[in-house]
Parts: sequence; structure tokens; C-alpha cells
Amino acid sequence: MTDCIFCDIVAGRAPAQMVYQDELVTAFRDLHPRAPVHILIVPNRHIRTCANLTPDDETVMGHLLVKAAELAAQENLAGNFRLVVNAGRATGQSVLHLHFHLMGGRTFSWPPG
Ligand code: AMP
Repeated sequence: MTDCIFCDIVAGRAPAQMVYQDELVTAFRDLHPRAPVHILIVPNRHIRTCANLTPDDETVMGHLLVKAAELAAQENLAGNFRLVVNAGRATGQSVLHLHFHLMGGRTFSWPPG
């Protein structure tokens, strides 16, 4: 185990309801879902927050977004889904390993709280 739960999930050291994994990204179901579909998609490499991204991350982040779209289709969200990234404690980021929330299956309000 490390001090990052998402690194442990990526490495198979911690349990998770896995949805997808390849050499760059991992997707698993949120432990406390806030929507009928609530999947977390993370880069396998530890990146602390969106604010830490560099040009070297363009490939992995582009790949992650394409996978998010594929997973949304796989989950039958019919083009209606929300992708959320919290960056920093003040926005609600509680796990400091960059992750996208893929959420769908209900209506959402705007702006988010
Ligand atoms: P955030 O608040 O944006 O950092 O989101 C972190 C998310 O990770 C929350 O929705 C948690 O429910 C979820 N989470 C925390 N630990 C786990 C875990 N072990 N497996 C799956 N989801 C988790």
C-alpha cells in the first residue's frame, strides 16, 4: 500500500469495482455514487491535481477523455452525462490523484454547487 488510494487501486493493491484499465488509464466505480452511473477515471501515473498537468501529459489526458466518451456510451448514457474534475481542496477534491467523475443517469443542475 502507498499513501494514495487511487495508486493502490491502479496497481491492484486495493479493491475496486473495475470498469476499464489499459496502460495509461484506469476506470472504476465510485465507492459513494452520487448518480446512478458514477465512474472515476484516473491516469495510472500519479498526478496530484489538474493544476499539475504539463505538456508531457497531453497524450494520457487526451486518451482519458476519449475513454470517458466510450465508457459513457458503454453505460448507455445516450450522450447525457457530466464529467467533473475537482482541482484543489476548496473545490471538494478529497483524493489528491487527478480523477474525472463520469456521472449520468439523472438530471443535473447548473451551476454546480
Ligand atoms: P473528489 O472529492 O473529487 O476528490 O472525489 C473523490 C471520490 O473518490 C469521491 O467521490 C469518493 O467517493 C471516491 N472514493 C474515495 N475512495 C474510493 C475508493 N477506495 N474506491 C472508489 N471510490 C473512492
